[in-house]
Amino acid sequence: MQLSFTYEANPGRTIFAPGSLASLGDELTRLGFSRALIICTPPQRDLAERINAMLGDRSAGIFDGALMHVPFETVVACRDVALKSLADCTVAIGGGSTTGLAKALALEDGLPIVAVPTTYAGSEMTPIWGMTKDRRKVTGRDKAVLPKTVIYDPELLVSLPASITGPSGLNAIAHAVEALYAPEANPITSLMAEEAIRAIGQGLPKSIETPNDIGARSSTLYGAWLAGATLGMVGMGLHHKICHTLGGTFDLPHADVHAIVLPYVAEFNASAAPGAMARVAMALGGLAASDAGRCLYDLRRKTCPKQSLASLGMAQSDIRHAAELASAGSYPNPRIASADDVERIIIEAFHGLQP
Ligand code: NAD
Repeated sequence: MQLSFTYEANPGRTIFAPGSLASLGDELTRLGFSRALIICTPPQRDLAERINAMLGDRSAGIFDGALMHVPFETVVACRDVALKSLADCTVAIGGGSTTGLAKALALEDGLPIVAVPTTYAGSEMTPIWGMTKDRRKVTGRDKAVLPKTVIYDPELLVSLPASITGPSGLNAIAHAVEALYAPEANPITSLMAEEAIRAIGQGLPKSIETPNDIGARSSTLYGAWLAGATLGMVGMGLHHKICHTLGGTFDLPHADVHAIVLPYVAEFNASAAPGAMARVAMALGGLAASDAGRCLYDLRRKTCPKQSLASLGMAQSDIRHAAELASAGSYPNPRIASADDVERIIIEAFHGLQP
């Protein structure tokens, strides 16, 4: 067997167990932190209050203003609270929006993060940060934003509504699918990616049917952890390019867009990355690379309430413009995609067709 690869792991400690939120205080002690600012979105205030009570005088208070796409004004407001409360770290409890805000403070002010993810987005495992200023999202990679410790407690996912659970799980699978054909893919990231797809494929439908099934939530969260880790180690391709364009320029919801677009990009890439797409298909019960798109489509049908870009409110008249934006610039992908190719993919996604 001829092999040639470079593997670079990201630093960080992961704790995974039902009920592991209870170990947060011990973890702060272990890391030498004594005043944690708890960050969350407005709807997750109750959970933040629970943590605040648990930490007692080791809490520097709560900032509950985290928002999607990390607006710069929110970063300024959160920094102000962190400075006034003499916080020496943040505890980011929530999804990608909350982790994103904590990362902005880590990047700009050096405040270390302990992350407690409550969606399957996977941001907590990546050095990727993003901030939105004057309606423009700037992103970058910096290991300084990696959380010191990530605490995965599947019990915290029980409250995630089905409308977010399904798309969030598919969003995680999208990281793993593109990791399998990334130029930097290596035996470890590929093992992680395939296992991520299998674990989410098994856990996600059950998490929708029985939201408080801790086994199903654990399987999905375990897959999301692996998928996030691959996103943190290799570059993403056409799928992420299309989704960032649709999310950023047309203001469509992040996870739903990923769930809807993924089967069509998988179908498009299948002939150019047969080995990777065969692994995707087999992880989801298919037999060959050509099944990958349909397997992802079937999983989406079973788990996601929204099945088309039209149902997310995208205007049909925006499709061509979106295709031109998404096909511009360079990005790694196993198959070159022209603006016409991308337009075809977006049209399929617009109508939610079977690949
Ligand atoms: P989100 O963080 O915006 O959360 C979606 C909603 O779910 C919010 O209203 C939140 O309050 C609620 N919620 C979260 N967990 C819950 C729970 N357990 N129970 C009930 N409600 C809950 O959405 P997301 O999809 O997790 O993150 C999306 C953002 O993350 C996007 O801005 C995306 O760009 C970013 N992201 C970044 C990376 C990265 O590596 N930097 C990776 C993935 C996503």
